[in-house]
Amino acid sequence: MCRLCDEGRPQNHFGGRRGFLKAAAAAGAAMTAFDLLAAGPAAANEAPAPLGSGERGRRYVIRGGAVMSMDPTVGDFAQADVLVEGKKIIAVGPNLQAGGAAVIDARGRIVMPGFIDTHHHQFETALRSFLADGLLLPGTPGGDINYYQYILLKFAPVYRPQDVYINELFGSLSQLDAGVTTVHDISQIHHSPAHSDAAIQGLIASGRRAAFGYFESAGGVAGNQYPIDAARIKKQWFSSTDQLTTMIMGGEVYLPGYEKAWQIGRELGLQVAAHILSPFGIRPTLDLLAQGKGGDSGTLALGPDNLFVHMTGMSDLGWQKVKDTGAQVSLAVPIEMNMRHGMPPILKMQSLGLEPSLSVDVECTLTADFFTQMRSCMNVQRALVNQAILDQGLATGDWWPTTQPPGLPNPLTSRDVLRYATINGAKGLRLDGKVGSLTPGKEADIIILDATAINVAPLNNVPGAVVSLMERSNVETVIVAGKLRKWKGRLLDTDLAGLRAQLEASRDYLFTAAGVGQDLFR
Ligand SMILES: [Zn+2]
Repeated sequence: MCRLCDEGRPQNHFGGRRGFLKAAAAAGAAMTAFDLLAAGPAAANEAPAPLGSGERGRRYVIRGGAVMSMDPTVGDFAQADVLVEGKKIIAVGPNLQAGGAAVIDARGRIVMPGFIDTHHHQFETALRSFLADGLLLPGTPGGDINYYQYILLKFAPVYRPQDVYINELFGSLSQLDAGVTTVHDISQIHHSPAHSDAAIQGLIASGRRAAFGYFESAGGVAGNQYPIDAARIKKQWFSSTDQLTTMIMGGEVYLPGYEKAWQIGRELGLQVAAHILSPFGIRPTLDLLAQGKGGDSGTLALGPDNLFVHMTGMSDLGWQKVKDTGAQVSLAVPIEMNMRHGMPPILKMQSLGLEPSLSVDVECTLTADFFTQMRSCMNVQRALVNQAILDQGLATGDWWPTTQPPGLPNPLTSRDVLRYATINGAKGLRLDGKVGSLTPGKEADIIILDATAINVAPLNNVPGAVVSLMERSNVETVIVAGKLRKWKGRLLDTDLAGLRAQLEASRDYLFTAAGVGQDLFR
């Protein structure tokens, strides 16, 4: 029996003009699609999701929200509509004629592109909060339980393919729930081809957009096929460009023989990504790459196909080459501050006219939500800028200096960090032709944020409300390539309890196999 009428079999009332007209005629009145979905405002939150979203030819319109497109040519609207057909955005603007398209009521909501995370180690999801107080390396107070010795050398080597799969899937769904529609998953867990395939299958199973980062096998497990399995992986899983998942080659420059990984990645036409940070002794290595003298051959050079993560503690030479070649930079601001990677180089980037994308890095230490990312980035940059301005007056007793020191960038705005979190992320992953903004012709990766919620209302400034007030609970609806994945606060097609049980079982195995005791109050 259909849920919405008396027909004996399920009906598609919202999938096309014909279906809509049939339903309207059966109802005997000139109803709007919204009327069909909900009897009145009180029932709006109970409306069922439009059926068949994301499928070829299926249309729906997101009606009446505050639309922040993140595309200057499209602009912003205090109240407007977004029309979606199949996977793509067809139109953005006020009072769109949508024919018989199903309606998603977005009144009181903010409609914007999904967030894009350009660096995240999702295989560590089962280790969440284990290293909340941790540093990268041992050697000083606070470093007893550190990332290198515990996460990479104790936990990572004992992962089985099934651990990889459930960690990747759960981490993906969790970020999807928080409105992060795209991730670059830097999986360093390729102990065998089965591990690699499990990581990819976990990403695909979530129904989320993902760049699979094929990095090394953390802990150096014997017999791993990195990097030579890259060609097989690309051919088996990434032969089409018309899919949600893409591939990036990892080539860590602190590992011996990294030139081979770079060469394989470049032969396959992939971006080549690497962690670049001074604690791993990388500064002189980046300088060599900047001079075209890197790798075993002494001739390897960085290029526009590079995606560098962190970039803390690098020289002016390295930075200038990154700018000149157009390499991409991803900053994991909260992690960099917390785990002693070094000061996030936001001011350096601004001084060069560069902009970063943002990334989560590791949930063993900090949350993967993007509101935290944006707030942290904005706050640390403004703290640095504000103090530099105040410092000018300390000697003279000018307690509110009104001159900007030469070369000091302006304070970041909410709009700036929203750009970092959306379109810059798309550029960083070479996906800006597909996503990153609400632009007609792009794929519909859209989030709908509740601005009527108790922590946000009344709405006075759209970018400000998103960056300064919102958190995961305000992410009401999430759409990936036109398909509804979260609807009115709940992930669709997800057995969360079952998946959580699998993740907990994986966690129990990992701690036991790694010889690390579980202690909730360590
Ligand atoms: Zn990382």
